[in-house]
Amino acid sequence: MKTEHNVDVVVVGGGPGGSTIAALVARAGHRVMVLERERFPRHQLGESLLPATIHFICELLGVKAEVEAAGFMRKHGGYFLWGRSPRPWSFEFGATPALTGPNAYAYQVRRAEFDKILLDNARRLGVDVREEHSVRQVVKEDGRVVGVEFTDADGRPGLVRARYVVDASGNTSKLHGAVGERVYSKYFQNVALYGYYEGGKRLAEPHAGSIYCAAFAEGWFWYIPLSPTMTSVGAVVDRKYADMLRQAPEDAMQQFIAHCPSIADMLAPARRVTEGIYGQLRVRKDWSYCNTKFWGPGLILLGDAACFIDPVFSSGVHLATYGALLAARSINTCLAGQLDEARCFEEFELRYRREYGNFYQFLLSFYDMHQDEQSYFWKARDVLRSEEGANEAFVRLVSGVSTNREPVFCRSDQVFAAKSEIWSERDKFIEQWRAHKHEEDKQPMLQEMLVGFADKVSEVLFPPDARARTLNVFQSGPENSRQLFDGGLVPSDDELHWCAPA
Ligand code: FAD
Repeated sequence: MKTEHNVDVVVVGGGPGGSTIAALVARAGHRVMVLERERFPRHQLGESLLPATIHFICELLGVKAEVEAAGFMRKHGGYFLWGRSPRPWSFEFGATPALTGPNAYAYQVRRAEFDKILLDNARRLGVDVREEHSVRQVVKEDGRVVGVEFTDADGRPGLVRARYVVDASGNTSKLHGAVGERVYSKYFQNVALYGYYEGGKRLAEPHAGSIYCAAFAEGWFWYIPLSPTMTSVGAVVDRKYADMLRQAPEDAMQQFIAHCPSIADMLAPARRVTEGIYGQLRVRKDWSYCNTKFWGPGLILLGDAACFIDPVFSSGVHLATYGALLAARSINTCLAGQLDEARCFEEFELRYRREYGNFYQFLLSFYDMHQDEQSYFWKARDVLRSEEGANEAFVRLVSGVSTNREPVFCRSDQVFAAKSEIWSERDKFIEQWRAHKHEEDKQPMLQEMLVGFADKVSEVLFPPDARARTLNVFQSGPENSRQLFDGGLVPSDDELHWCAPA
């Protein structure tokens, strides 16, 4: 007999995207169910994270302390043998003022453990998490998705009815076609062959925990330290090698390593792990794609179900969890009956596409191997349309904090401390501005208040030379400054909803 459930939101997939949205919707008081095909901990690829995920999303979810205590390797930046320069070059997250000292790192995570922390957290927040439940299809009524059909661990069929269905089922999603079409990039069509090694060498500090990416004739390698002794090593190569990788993965891996002297040197003292969840060489197609729509009536796509971009800058978990935050705001606002559905989901889609687009645009240039690191940095500045130093723009982009107008990414410890002061100055200014905006003799006083406020914000968020930019951003009133698009919405103070700007 078919079991039937009724909830506000059903989430398909309990990876980082699914567990993040489930937790943030449950925190707003709604009934949420997650249906996850596997039993956690399960293996997953995508181990190198960005500071935006650790310091802002994990903080908002309430798991930052747990992640800090899990013993993952600290990642202070990236180390590259890439482009025209024959010598390696590197970057550190601390190069952008968007991440102050204590926040200038991320982690290299063992995904089985990291994903379980996030899923258990959703459960703790009241989400009904059902593992070994596989979703087969969506249920549609009158053109709207109203639920999903699933099969449970014992093979019994079930139905969940919900106001919203979230597809966070990753790159193998069967549901994304219900809102649009998956369009594959012409440029990024690679395959990856990867495995795990014990005893590989470490880079010198401060890069012992950094991701190392090394280009070679057939493609590039990632070298990600997952513990003091274990390393995730993957070769990303053109799709013309796909058959070779599947037919003889051991031979292919050895051949690629031999063709990349720096990786061969790092792995010289290492042996490949051959047991447990890290014991296989695995192949993953990593073709980049993006759905033509991220939402339709009743159905929202997130993470790899919505879009994926080449892994060289480790943006997958960041895009999945940032997308989850944006979609959670839209769902929470609609469930509370506060704003029109189309307006809320357009805000989600525009912001999400913008972040995906930043990485996509930048990566198009990054694969031009005839450039040097300075050209890559300048390209990042172009993509962000920013006036900051090129190195800073690059680091901001690849840290996942490319938008200063997204308050959740302005929460370094230093900003937290100054935030209440900033907002009280802002409120004073708004009050005065509303009361006196049409009085000519009060304009100098308003201008002075605005400059004082902008100075305060500059001190915290931007380097000293950026005062003019800050003034620009805040000139039309602080609330509008958090708008990304004309007519767009702004995040609420609790980060969990959208509001119409004043
Ligand atoms: P997933 O993590 O894939 O989770 C989806 C979940 O849905 C899974 O648990 C799955 O079991 C479940 N599911 C699937 N189908 C169903 C169903 N029918 N019913 C119920 N449940 C279902 N990202 C990084 O951040 N850093 C990296 O270093 C990185 N390296 C990468 C290297 C390569 C070669 C590739 C291909 C990707 C890499 N990524 C990386 C990307 C990263 O793996 C993904 O972007 C990230 O895991 C997406 O999270 P998600 O929550 O959308 O999906």
